[in-house]
Amino acid sequence: MAMNQVMEALESKGYTVHIFSTAREASAYLARTIRGKTVGFGDSATLLEMGLYKALSPDNEVFDPQHCPEGSDFHETATHCLTTDVFLTSVNALARTGEMVNLDGTGNRIAGSLFGHRKVVFVVGRNKLVPTLDEAIWRTRNIAAPRNAKRLGLRTPCALRGDRCYDCSSPERICNGLLVYLRKMNDLDAEVILIDEDMGL
Ligand code: SF4
Repeated sequence: MAMNQVMEALESKGYTVHIFSTAREASAYLARTIRGKTVGFGDSATLLEMGLYKALSPDNEVFDPQHCPEGSDFHETATHCLTTDVFLTSVNALARTGEMVNLDGTGNRIAGSLFGHRKVVFVVGRNKLVPTLDEAIWRTRNIAAPRNAKRLGLRTPCALRGDRCYDCSSPERICNGLLVYLRKMNDLDAEVILIDEDMGL
């Protein structure tokens, strides 16, 4: 799927877009352009794979629920992430028509991506691209979420069977809030980093 086509769709919805061939180049760009800021992370396998916590920490104050500082737990760190200058996250799926989709269990990721920051950056690998919004929602629920449940070692039917979502009532269910970004939120500087590599789940 042509990255340039997705880029045009996202730009028409108000986003600034940059395309990179590799995660390494994208990481270097972010480390170069985000400096002297407080930075919050939404839980994201993509950001983890890119090593962005380490890349951004020398020149910024970074809060990441996956790297809680000593004496701080997930809730406290994730709460800090909601009021930083910059918020970084990924999405579970991106439609060629420019809509993005995220699914969240706790809500820190979708909350932080909507409000409370001067800038939000979405980092998205090519594997997240699908033709339509319907397919983006389907991918989010039936591919990204089961893979995430498996990664986390949860006792949910999707993690055990690994094939699709069972809309479970498991106590360990991670699918509670489904968000569709139809366009960029008002009064927000929002950037999408497209990477021509498979990234995240
Ligand atoms: S609702 Fe349950 S079965 Fe479906 S993806 Fe989420 S955790 Fe897995």
